[in-house]
Amino acid sequence: MHYKLIEPAEQLQKNEYFYSDIRFCEDNLLSLSYYFCILRGMPTKVCLALTEKTLLKNAELAEKYKNEADIFELRADFLNEEEFSHLRRFPEMIGKPLIFTVRRKIDGGEFAGSEEDRALIFAGTFCLNEGGMFHETERASDIKTFAYADLESGFVIPPLESALKNSNIKIIRSIHSIENPIKNISLTAKELSQFSHHIIKIAGISNSLQDTAKLFKNTDKVKKYGTGKIILIGMGKYGFASRVLSPLLDSEIVYTFCREKIEADNLQAQMIDPVTLQKIYRFSKICGKTKIFGLLGANVNTSSSPFLHNSGYERFKMNCVYVPLCAVSAEEGLAFADLLGICGLSVTAPFKTSVIKHLSGISPKAKNAGAVNTVLKTDGGLEGFNTDIYGFEKSLLEFVSKEELQNCGAALIGAGGAAKACACVLKKLGAKNVAVFNRTKKKADSLAASFGFAAEELSQKNSPLLKKYSSLIIQASSSGMCKGENPLAFFDFGGHEKVFDLIYNPDKTELLKKAEKAGCKICNGYNMLKYQAYKQFEIFTGRSYE
Ligand code: NAP
Repeated sequence: MHYKLIEPAEQLQKNEYFYSDIRFCEDNLLSLSYYFCILRGMPTKVCLALTEKTLLKNAELAEKYKNEADIFELRADFLNEEEFSHLRRFPEMIGKPLIFTVRRKIDGGEFAGSEEDRALIFAGTFCLNEGGMFHETERASDIKTFAYADLESGFVIPPLESALKNSNIKIIRSIHSIENPIKNISLTAKELSQFSHHIIKIAGISNSLQDTAKLFKNTDKVKKYGTGKIILIGMGKYGFASRVLSPLLDSEIVYTFCREKIEADNLQAQMIDPVTLQKIYRFSKICGKTKIFGLLGANVNTSSSPFLHNSGYERFKMNCVYVPLCAVSAEEGLAFADLLGICGLSVTAPFKTSVIKHLSGISPKAKNAGAVNTVLKTDGGLEGFNTDIYGFEKSLLEFVSKEELQNCGAALIGAGGAAKACACVLKKLGAKNVAVFNRTKKKADSLAASFGFAAEELSQKNSPLLKKYSSLIIQASSSGMCKGENPLAFFDFGGHEKVFDLIYNPDKTELLKKAEKAGCKICNGYNMLKYQAYKQFEIFTGRSYE
């Protein structure tokens, strides 16, 4: 993007910046409002945390992600000790601005030494002598140095701070609350603002979407303190939106980790890598005018839906973004959506039924299914739809023919929101010999009664009954998403069964693996996801995805 070409933009006059962006505007046909939004402040920089054990490996990592990251953070707390004596030379190895950080364990880092040791690492890195001055022989101006130093709120060393200030090294004054959410964000910012000229960074665990909402509610208050430059982060899975939508928090920097670390540490639900942020979420285009859509559920941060929806916006050059929102309840998800002016939501487990009572209208199909997977904000309020029905019907008919369905038995496993959509389709396509098997029998009874199907408890003792309906098995429970889960672990496949599992991640559940091994024809839920997302895209944007 052109505004990156004029780095360091901080040093430019506002009108220079403006003209550069107008060039970009004409090139890319994006709306002017986007540029006025950018003029409010600087665009959020994407930072990749470098967490390798050696400087060389970190330099390789920076090279790998140089196209997606604007700046890098050297996390010296991850380094082998013998690397410390070479820290000063690291900025010369990297072609972009760098943050220097030595994070203590208590703040979520790896550094276990004393505060004195930490101070010495900073002194060594920034060439300070005992008086807090730069060494005569190696002044910071003579060598390329770090652009920022991250100092926690309790790490106060006045000589270091004045030396950094004199060398134009910016200080990020940070606070990390990894155990408990930050109670009073504005007060915390006020306390940090005693460090004038510093960028205020507040990172706290979000234990709910409500905690993340507090960041968005307090952005303007926090900006009033200090330099007005802020970084706000909600950590954990409920804080994911604070990273993707960090431009709306006016955050200076959004922190990312490399894919390799995210996978190795199993951080997929709470962290994002710079490639996903830039390519899937089109981060550099997010601004105050971006229309936001979301995916509301209990565990949605690794869903494929953001890929499907955001690719559609990219294809049609729409200024929209689709973000996963893990929530504790449908209610807090809707409150968050309201706060951010979210235009539409996909709704998934376990909120497809509980969301209904908060809606002002619901489509006939969704009403029939008793489940809503799509919510659209309209002038009249929130409207509910069900596109799982469309997605399931289309993908099911690619797997079995209508004639087959009408002449065979079918077992529907589960009685939640997704199973309700499946029941609607089975009924519509004329399946007669259907039984609902669910762990909680009462729920199976209630679902089956609405459609005239049989109902059974899902248990080993009912294996012979399941066999009776097993020509087609539709697995619509949420069991199977985690390793080792198989709701039909007790069942022996004969090899003639056709097994459709709505789960698509993992792409082959334990159940599908077992069925395939026995010779059964199998199908996962990816095509269903795709088709229901296409329909949802149409409802959200008025344009046909396909
Ligand atoms: P939901 O409303 O929360 O219902 C969950 C269902 O799973 C309930 O019937 C529950 O039984 C059952 N269940 C949970 N854990 C179980 C276990 N350990 N053993 C047996 N049964 C168990 O969820 P949902 O919205 O219906 O979604 C269900 C699944 O479908 C999810 O995995 C979701 O990802 C998938 N899905 C896929 C698509 C797609 O496009 N491919 C679309 C929608 C849903 P109880 O009643 O006993 O609690």
